[in-house]
Amino acid sequence: MSLKYITTREGSQVIDSSKAILNGLGDDGGLYLPTEIPEVSLADISDLVDASYQDKAKFVLKKFLNDFTDEEIDYCVSNAYNSNTFTDANITPLHVLNHKSAVLELYHGPTSAFKDVALQILPYLLTTSAKKNNDNRTYVILVATSGDTGKAALEGFKDVPDTKIMVFYPNNGVSLVQKLQMITQLGENVKVVAVDGNFDDTQTGVKKLFGDLDLISDLETKNHTFSSANSINWGRLVPQIVYYFASYCDLVKDGKITLGDRINFTVPTGNFGNILAGYYAKRMGLPVNRLICAANANDVLKDFINTGIYNRQRHFYKTVSPSMDILISSNLERLLFILSGGDKALISSLMSSLKSTGEYRVSDELLAKVQSVFSANSADDLDTIETIKRVFIDFDYLIDTHTAVAYKVYEKYLESTGDNSFNVIVSTASPYKFSGAVAEAIIDNYSDFSELDLLEEIHRVSGVHIPKGLYRLEKRTVRFDESITKDNMESSLRDYLGL
Ligand SMILES: *Cc1c(COP(=O)(O)O)cnc(C)c1O
Repeated sequence: MSLKYITTREGSQVIDSSKAILNGLGDDGGLYLPTEIPEVSLADISDLVDASYQDKAKFVLKKFLNDFTDEEIDYCVSNAYNSNTFTDANITPLHVLNHKSAVLELYHGPTSAFKDVALQILPYLLTTSAKKNNDNRTYVILVATSGDTGKAALEGFKDVPDTKIMVFYPNNGVSLVQKLQMITQLGENVKVVAVDGNFDDTQTGVKKLFGDLDLISDLETKNHTFSSANSINWGRLVPQIVYYFASYCDLVKDGKITLGDRINFTVPTGNFGNILAGYYAKRMGLPVNRLICAANANDVLKDFINTGIYNRQRHFYKTVSPSMDILISSNLERLLFILSGGDKALISSLMSSLKSTGEYRVSDELLAKVQSVFSANSADDLDTIETIKRVFIDFDYLIDTHTAVAYKVYEKYLESTGDNSFNVIVSTASPYKFSGAVAEAIIDNYSDFSELDLLEEIHRVSGVHIPKGLYRLEKRTVRFDESITKDNMESSLRDYLGL
């Protein structure tokens, strides 16, 4: 029971994992992480090869959430990963392309994006953490979303006891499919509202609500408290470590690799959460050779990994892989903390430099540590569409735009290094979720169709099933058609909570 949690910045306390999950972000602005990284032997991995995804999840979660009982972990895992929530019995199935590469499909959850893997279990981790700490308050989850996170959080928290969730999305900032997914959301404890403006307006509004002391004290009188479901919560990171183990085990089971062989993962990266989970898996003892970070035209991470300079002062591109249109990669802070040997003073100063000047630079020594594990490159929109088309023709296999960025970056890596270790391309969304760009790649007269009709058309051309969560969205009952100005976010929330 020695594993505890601290933050990446100065002045943090040492707490248990359940507290870290409840707190979300440290008081000092830092991110929580474990004081040590649990070790896993090859014999342990060998034992996992024939285990179910659920048992692999229990194995990994128990190592990190060591103040949870076995019963509590079992409860969280079995509610999150089952045949009601994921359409594939393997939860995160592996699609082998050839003797040297495979695609890890993380998009078989209810919203067809990889965020489901973490957001299906987070509500259970959160409510279990509250119970463990004798906290009987109702947790009110507030989310500002540019698309994928809002819907995945709604599906995760839908009808979970002792929680309520309210999602604000920008009226002009999400796709039609994403909007329909949210405004038709089912569940008794959910609320969705459109806000006039862009994503930044919406996010700024939500941050203001989180910090509104009057509102917080009114919540307390109702025995309610705020929480957030965003990707810096440790409860979102730890479930993602599982699928790195699961894919490795599947390759061993299929005879594609031998236990102990070192493999590469190429990960389409935005906030650095997914690839950081891969780094934790490697540090635990999973035989990983390199982690290849794939960026779109917003290539701030590629530049950082190649030069040691993180500079967010650059043009922001709206790309066909919008979930990676990010210039501040929050989870990188955790990696820098680990690689600097827990140098809190350094991390505090790097992050304050990022805030004040938009830039920081790490030492050559720290950069060398980053580069000993990570490689990075980028792919633009033209590359992305061309790659979807080529993979579809060569392998009769359809990938989404984010996965295509990873595929292209893997090809560049292979060409420049000749490293032919087995490579797993991490696939983060169903091709139907980004149907416009996918149709452009595989359907000649795609512009003759409306955004929604394209789904049927992609199905006709590819034969891939339309996920049930995206099927005939326009036929569902709209439950949330409220649209407000950003000045009315507080009154809308008060109205929902009866304050
Ligand atoms: C969120 C998201 C990403 C980026 O993941 P990070 O953990 O933020 O690096 C990539 N692809 C899709 C489809 C996503 O929704």
